[in-house]
Amino acid sequence: MSELVPIPLDLQLRRAYLEYEREDKIFDLPRRAIFRGLPGLDLSVRTNGHAAFTPLGPAAGPHSQLLQNIVLSWLGGSRIIELKTVQVLDALSIPRPCIDSETVTYNVEWSQELSLQQSLREYVSAMMFLEVLKASSLLGEDLPRGFYDTVFDMSAGYNLEGIQSAPMRAWFAGMMDASTLVDELRLLIAGRFAAYRDLPFPSRVSDTVTLSTFHGCPPEEIERIVTFLLTEVGLNVCVKMNPTLLGQQQVAHLLYDVLGYREIELVPDAFENDLRFDAALDLIPRLQSVALSCGRRFSLKFSNTLVVRNHRNVFSDERMYLSGPPLHVLTLNLVRAFRERMPAAPPLSFSAGMTANNVASVVAMDFVPVTTCSDLLRPGGYSRLHRYLDNLGAAMRECHAATIPEFVLRHAGKGRDAIHAVTAAMLADATQLSGSSSARETVIPFITDVEAQLLRWFESPGKSLRSLCREIADEFTHVAGRIPHELASHLQVHVSGLEDALTVSAGSLNTPILVDLATGDPRYRWESNRTAPKTIAAELSLFDCINCDKCVAGCPNDAMFVYSGEPFEVDYSNYELLPGGGFRAIPGGTFRITRARQFANFADACNDCGNCGVLCPEHGEPNLRKPRFFGSLESLAARGTVDGFHIVAEAGQKTIHCLIAGHRYRLTVDPAADRARFENETAEYVLQPGRNALIAWHVFDASGTVPARLDLLPYLQLKFLLDNVSDSRHVHYANVAGLEE
Ligand code: SF4
Ligand code: SF4
Repeated sequence: MSELVPIPLDLQLRRAYLEYEREDKIFDLPRRAIFRGLPGLDLSVRTNGHAAFTPLGPAAGPHSQLLQNIVLSWLGGSRIIELKTVQVLDALSIPRPCIDSETVTYNVEWSQELSLQQSLREYVSAMMFLEVLKASSLLGEDLPRGFYDTVFDMSAGYNLEGIQSAPMRAWFAGMMDASTLVDELRLLIAGRFAAYRDLPFPSRVSDTVTLSTFHGCPPEEIERIVTFLLTEVGLNVCVKMNPTLLGQQQVAHLLYDVLGYREIELVPDAFENDLRFDAALDLIPRLQSVALSCGRRFSLKFSNTLVVRNHRNVFSDERMYLSGPPLHVLTLNLVRAFRERMPAAPPLSFSAGMTANNVASVVAMDFVPVTTCSDLLRPGGYSRLHRYLDNLGAAMRECHAATIPEFVLRHAGKGRDAIHAVTAAMLADATQLSGSSSARETVIPFITDVEAQLLRWFESPGKSLRSLCREIADEFTHVAGRIPHELASHLQVHVSGLEDALTVSAGSLNTPILVDLATGDPRYRWESNRTAPKTIAAELSLFDCINCDKCVAGCPNDAMFVYSGEPFEVDYSNYELLPGGGFRAIPGGTFRITRARQFANFADACNDCGNCGVLCPEHGEPNLRKPRFFGSLESLAARGTVDGFHIVAEAGQKTIHCLIAGHRYRLTVDPAADRARFENETAEYVLQPGRNALIAWHVFDASGTVPARLDLLPYLQLKFLLDNVSDSRHVHYANVAGLEE
C-alpha cells in the first residue's frame, strides 16, 4: 500500500532553487513552461472578493494535493487553486490504481490521502513557498502587475456530521488563521533562505470552500452544511453540482445518441437519489439569501464527475467516476438548462473536460475559475497549462479584447445584447423608483447616454471597458445629487457593478451558442477519444528505456525523476565462498547500461495512482519497475516488504540502503580508498570498485547460515544507483538533501 510522505518546506525550497539554477526547471517543469503573463493582455479576474492573475486553476484532485503539485499548477499559470478535498475520515485506504486515463478519464480517487494535520501543513507550506518565490524574485523582476495574485480555495466533503466534526472545525480554523503553523514553519526557512524567514506571510490561507457532497445527499442536508459553513465557520461557499442534475434521460441522450459513448453504463440509482433539478432551483435562492444575510458569498461549481458502472478492468470497485471530454458536453448542457431556468444564478465556476482548446469558450461563458484535471494527466502534465493561457490570449486578441470582461462581451457576438439587457434593467429600476417626473427626466437621459457610450465603445474600442465604467461612475456622482436618495442608492449599485453586470449578462447570452458548438464538436465524441496511447513491444525494466520522459512530466506529484549515468558494459565474475573467508571467482555475467538518462521513482511522493503506467509506451508501470527511492530510512522501513532504496551521504562516504524481495542490502563506497563495503543480512563483503573484485568477506554470525556464493550483480546495480542517483547533474528529491550548494 502506497503512503504519501510530505516533503518538508526547507527541502522543497532547496530543491526548487537548486534545480532552477542548475537545470532551468522547477520540480521538472522547464522554464519555457512557466507562465509569465501575456504582453498587452490582462487575464485577471476576481473571485470571492479576491484578485487572481488568471482565471485558471487545478480542480481539487491529484494536481492540488501536495506542495509540489500546487506550485507546479501555479507555475503553469494557475492562480485559483482548488485544494484537494479534505474530510473527517482522513485515514482511508484508497484502491490502487485510482486513475485510468487511457481513453476518456475514469477515477476512483477520493479525498486527501494525507491526514488532516498533514494536509493543513502542506497547504500552508505551499502558500509560504509561493511567498518566498515572490520575495526572492527567482522568476525575474519584470513580471506584470498582479502576477502573484493567487487564491487558495479549500474543498471539503462529504456530509453534515463529518463537516461539523471537531477535527474538521479545527481544520477550517487552521486554514483561516494559520499564524501558529506559519511561525512553526518559518523555522525551516534557513540557510540561503534565511532572509525570507520573517516575511509577513498571510495568516489566512483561504476564506472560501467548495463543497462536495456524497451522491444521494438530500437537499436539506446540503442546505444545513452550506448554512453551517457560511454562518458558523464564516466561509464563502461554492457548492459542486452533480451532472446527474440533468436527469438520466438527457444524460443518456447526450452520451449515447449525440456523443456515441455506447460502452459507458449509467447508474440509475445515482439519478434517483441525487439532488433533482427542481429541488436545486428551490434550494439555491435560499442559500443565496443566507450568504447575503451574513455578508458572505455563495457560488456554484459545474460539475462533479459522473458516477458510472465499472466496465473496464483497471479498478476493482463496482463504480467509477467519469470525467474528460464527454463530461465537458454533459456539464455544459447542464449549465445551459440551469441558466435558462435561473437567470439570477450565483457566480459559476467550471470543471469538466477542460483543455487548451476549449478554455476560451468556457471563459467566454463567464465561469470563474475554470479548473482542469483530466487533461493534465496526459503527456506533458502541468506544462499543458501554458497553452491554455496562450490560446485564451490568442482568442482575446482576435476579438480585440484586452481584459476578461471585454473578452466575454466580444467573443460570441452577444456584447450589444448584453449592453441592452444591462441598461434595460437599470432603466426598469429607475422607472419604478422615480417618484417624480423631474427625477425621471434626470436619470433616463443619463441611462440612455450610458447605453450609447457603451455601444460606441463596443463598436470602436479605444479606452478599456474598465476605464469607461469608471468614467460612467464619475458621471453618476453628478446625477446622484439631483435625484431622491433611495433612487440614487439603487442606481449606485448598478453603476458601480456595471462591468460585472455586463460580463454576467454576456456570459449568459453566450452560453447557448457556445454549448451548441461544443455539443456538435467532433473532438468530444467517442471516435475521437477511444484510442489508448500507443505502446511498443518492450518490457520496462530497472534500467534503460526509450527515454520518452512521459512519466516525469505526466506524474501529478513529480514522483518520477531522471538521473544520469554513462552507458557502459562490464563483464563480472561471481564468487564461490570458501570456509574461513576464502573465495574463488566463478563465471558471472555482463552488466550493461545503454542509456545516459535513467528514470527512477521517489516513493514518498508516489501514491501509485497508475497514471505513469498509462503514459509509458513500454509494457509495465514506471512507478513499480523503476528503482523506488525513499526520503528516509524510516519511510523505507515503514513500507514493510516493498522494494526500495535510500541514499545517505556522510563524511565523504555514501551509503545506499535497499530492500529487494524482502532482503536487505547496504553498500558503502569510499572512492578515495577504492573500497566498497557490501552487506546483506548474513555477511559483509569488501570489494575493490575499480576492479569489481572481491577482497574479503565474513559472516556476521558464525553460528548462522554461511553463504555459498556471492552474485555480483546486486552489488553492481547498487553501485550504479549510488554513483548516479546521488550525482549532482540532476536535482531531485532523492539527492537534494545531500547536494552541496
Ligand atoms: S509515479 Fe506514477 S503512479 Fe506514482 S504518483 Fe506519479 S504517476 Fe502516479
Ligand atoms: S519509464 Fe516509460 S514513460 Fe518513463 S521515460 Fe521510460 S519509456 Fe518513457
